[in-house]
Amino acid sequence: MYNLKNKNVVITGASKGIGESLVRKFAKYKANIYLISRDVTRMEKIVSNITKKNNQKISYISLDISKEDDVNLTFKKITKNVSVDILINNAGITADNLLLTMKSNQWHDVINTNLNGCYYCSKAVIKGMIKQKSGKIINISSIIGITGNKGQANYAASKSGILGLTKSLAKEVASRNITVNAINPGYIKTEMTKDLNNKDKFLDNIPLQRFGLPDDIANLACFLASDEASYITGQAINIDGGMVM
Ligand code: NAP
Repeated sequence: MYNLKNKNVVITGASKGIGESLVRKFAKYKANIYLISRDVTRMEKIVSNITKKNNQKISYISLDISKEDDVNLTFKKITKNVSVDILINNAGITADNLLLTMKSNQWHDVINTNLNGCYYCSKAVIKGMIKQKSGKIINISSIIGITGNKGQANYAASKSGILGLTKSLAKEVASRNITVNAINPGYIKTEMTKDLNNKDKFLDNIPLQRFGLPDDIANLACFLASDEASYITGQAINIDGGMVM
């Protein structure tokens, strides 16, 4: 449906959950994909299960996106031979606790991965996108970045920060034909949410009465990455079954 053939796509947090679904969807569109996460074994398994078409290139790189020097080195290697057309900042973690008892490392780990990681990766590709006068950046934020949540001050702050980053960068690079958008997932069935308590309570607050699937997020990401979405920038779109209206 969308023409993403041979587009160079970098996907962070590609070893499982929403990231894995993003990889599979973009692979179906015959995009060239660079998977990024820390878990090489899982990425290797995902890649080995994809049937590559024509000259499609799919490779994985082990990287901790919270480490700025490592991010710069990795993107330098990627961009040595190719230009990045699409960056999806999807990697994220939680370390829940009430602020009263939150440890300093819980705060910093979440901010360093979710927010600083998004900044490092975006910074690493933006010069090339400006040069080529095209590009798409898609940031996976969260509805928690809008609503806040008890026990998730660190996570909510990181995700609100991503929304501010998305809108500011969108304004900075719009004249260069680069779009920057965010997706705010609600409750999506992945390893991140499998141990959450009170699942039934969540369901009561979801008008569509089901939890989301990783593919629900990947479907929108493919659209936002396509030419069909070329007039959309600086937006944050909720995919949450109607939880936040
Ligand atoms: P997940 O299943 O836990 O996957 C998280 C991914 O991020 C993994 O691939 C993980 O890979 C990677 N990652 C974590 N820390 C990293 C680091 N320092 N460097 C590189 N990669 C790292 O989570 P998910 O549910 O798919 O979530 C994906 C994104 O959606 C996250 O940003 C999350 O906040 C957001 N989101 C999810 C939900 C939900 O309900 N599931 C709701 C709202 C927003 P490694 O561990 O191998 O590094």
